Amino acid sequence: MRVFKFGGASVKDANGVRNVARVLQEVGYKDVFLVVSAMGKMTNAFEKLIQAYFYNTETFSVHVDKIRAYHYEIINDLFSVDHDAIINQVEGLFTEMTQFMIKNESRDYNFVYDQIVSYAELFSTKIVSAYLNDIGISNDWLDVRNCIATNSDFRDATVNWDRTKQYIRDYVNDENLQITQGFIGRDAHLNTTTLGREGSDYTAAIFAYCLNAADVTIWKDVDGVLNADPRHFEETTLLVRISYTEAIELAFYGASVIHPKTLQPLQKKDIPLYVKSFLNLQAKGTKVSKGEAISPEVPCFIVKNNQILLSISSLDFSFIVERNISEIFNLIHEQRMKVNLIQNSAISFSVCLEDKYENFDKLLVSLESRFKIDFHKGVALHTIRHFTAESIDRIEQTNKVLLKQLTQETVQIVIE
Ligand code: ASP
Ligand code: MG
Repeated sequence: MRVFKFGGASVKDANGVRNVARVLQEVGYKDVFLVVSAMGKMTNAFEKLIQAYFYNTETFSVHVDKIRAYHYEIINDLFSVDHDAIINQVEGLFTEMTQFMIKNESRDYNFVYDQIVSYAELFSTKIVSAYLNDIGISNDWLDVRNCIATNSDFRDATVNWDRTKQYIRDYVNDENLQITQGFIGRDAHLNTTTLGREGSDYTAAIFAYCLNAADVTIWKDVDGVLNADPRHFEETTLLVRISYTEAIELAFYGASVIHPKTLQPLQKKDIPLYVKSFLNLQAKGTKVSKGEAISPEVPCFIVKNNQILLSISSLDFSFIVERNISEIFNLIHEQRMKVNLIQNSAISFSVCLEDKYENFDKLLVSLESRFKIDFHKGVALHTIRHFTAESIDRIEQTNKVLLKQLTQETVQIVIE
């Protein structure tokens, strides 16, 4: 069995869906299990709809109309002759969704979010499945909620592996191509849950684990995993091979590679993960598996903007000892700030922070009475894995360096 995952960008319009069919025809779909996510940016569109449902009911119908029109445009383009069957199915889902919204009395945002946002995945897979059947790629549409059992932490549900393994055994027909949704699951009370944004890669990994798949392929609009973000770097290199550990390290430093949550089940069973281009089928893509850390061995650049560099020293030149550090960390933690770098010396302690919830001023108030504080806002944290002297020079020569930290494989540089 092989697991393929197609994300939103791959099915953002009718031509995207046709291209999915082309990929299947070219690479073959025997023994393939297919996970398809919501079309284009539909998950974002559903998030707006849910917000309107809660806080802005007068704009609600605008969002419903937009979502409906988007899917219908794709349907009309794909099924020019006979689209009654697919229209009936999609309409059925729309009715189900509106019925939920009318009857629902819960004000639990996360619960309601999951019940509604999941329709984006259902619409998408219904359309793709019907289209593929229409052109002769015979497949079964599978409701993933029958397979992925989770707890009831809406919007961030945890998988119940024992039940999931059992359900996958019960529901997956490995005789025929199966098409299912990413990102969603079901709790023990039969409510829909979601696994967190971008969760459909994880769904693919869960199926791969439970089906003992030979491999997983994530089809993307880029050639694979690159050594730098092409939006910020002119020259990038495709990483042909990386180890699970290296991929987890890169994600830790902020690279938008594969989420560690996705890698864990694969690593456990040694199932390789391929990241490939759905546009350029000849390209090799990236293979993530056990073994060699990275190939080719090139420096990998990761940039985090909008950081705060905070230096804390004691008022009386006394040493910053463990007690102070643990107290400082507690205060940072209380303000829900993320620490991306730590450096300490005899009398001072520096941290590079991310202030997602804009709590820095509160942190300052709690620190100022006891310590001497110095800070720089709006700095950037550059991380280079597998650095070379030249790659460090490239950053140091054109920027003002505020702090630098080197370990064997990684250098981190805070610049103004
Ligand atoms: N459609 C969901 C999202 O956009 C899940 C996914 O794409 O992985 O977050
Ligand atoms: Mg998506």
